[in-house]
Order: sequence, then structure tokens, then C-alpha cells
Amino acid sequence: MDFKSKIRVIEGFPKEGISFKDVTTLLSDGEAYQAAIKACLEMLEGINYDVVVGPEARGFLIGAPLAVMAQKGFVPIRKPGKLPYETIKHEYFLEYGSDVLEVHKDAIKPGDKVLVVDDLLATGGTAKAVCELIEKLGGEVVGLAFLMELDFLDGRKVLDGYKVLSAINYE
Ligand code: AMP
Repeated sequence: MDFKSKIRVIEGFPKEGISFKDVTTLLSDGEAYQAAIKACLEMLEGINYDVVVGPEARGFLIGAPLAVMAQKGFVPIRKPGKLPYETIKHEYFLEYGSDVLEVHKDAIKPGDKVLVVDDLLATGGTAKAVCELIEKLGGEVVGLAFLMELDFLDGRKVLDGYKVLSAINYE
């Protein structure tokens, strides 16, 4: 399937210079959504993981259906103040600003093999923060899977040493 034709691109959102990849147009198309999740699962063949971890909000939209189809658990990573139990935190830098992420401190067990999933890899700041949270809890990041990747931002460099996979690339 031509996934790019299903993803709306909004120039200048949320600020000038950003070419925003609006995945909502793909998600609202049932056939395209399922095909996108299947494409992510296919690229993960051969990777052995126990649990899928995804940051809010769009990481849930790719990570959770992928986890269900792979019959794995899903652990949400959230913005501060949203998770009810004890958490650990990490500050990270986005293509447009900085933020803090949290995870429940008992969500990942030492030795768990973790797959990180998000909708899009831009600068890699979010994904790196997620990896650091997982590693603080003793988890092992066995791979990172993205539906989309902005190649020109070179987020992979920030994730050097990790296995990084993406289904759709923007050059
Ligand atoms: P980064 O930490 O820079 O890799 O940014 C990744 C996160 O920011 C992803 O969760 C995306 O949802 C969002 N994001 C960053 N840049 C874009 C973009 N150009 N289009 C859509 N989403 C973006």
C-alpha cells in the first residue's frame, strides 16, 4: 500500500519550518490502519520482545494495536501527572520544545526485553528518553519501531547502538 498517500502533510504546524505528518488521515482509514500495523509487525520479524512500550499520545495509536496483534503487553509512557502510581521521570527535547516523560516504576521488570514503538522518529529525543526510562528500570531495549521516519533529521544518530526500524521514510 502507498502509505504516504494516506498521510496528510501540514506545512508550518505547530510552528514555521515544521512539515507535520498528520497520521490521523491514515488512522481513520480501516484498511490503511491495519496494513500499517501489519507492515510494522513484518519489519519486526526475528526480534524477540516481551513487552511493547509507547509514549503518549500517538505512540499509543501504533504501539497498542501492534502489541495486541503480537500478543504482547503494552506499557504507556505519559506526560507528568497522568499516571496514578509511583513513577520515574526523564526530561527530553522535541523538534519543537522540551518535555518530561514518566512511566510507572513497576511497569517493566529487570531483564524484560522491550520494544519501543512510536508513530514518528524526528530528532530521536523522545525515543532516547523512553529508552533511558526503560533502562533505569532494568529493561533491555531490543528494538525501536516507527511507522514514519524523517531521515533528514538523523534521529538514528541519537539512537546509535539500538536497532531502529521504520516502515515509511521521508527524505
Ligand atoms: P522527536 O523526539 O524529535 O523524535 O519527535 C518525535 C515525536 O514528536 C513523535 O512522537 C511525533 O509524534 C512528534 N513529531 C515530531 N516531529 C513531527 C512531525 N514533523 N510530524 C509529526 N509528528 C512529529
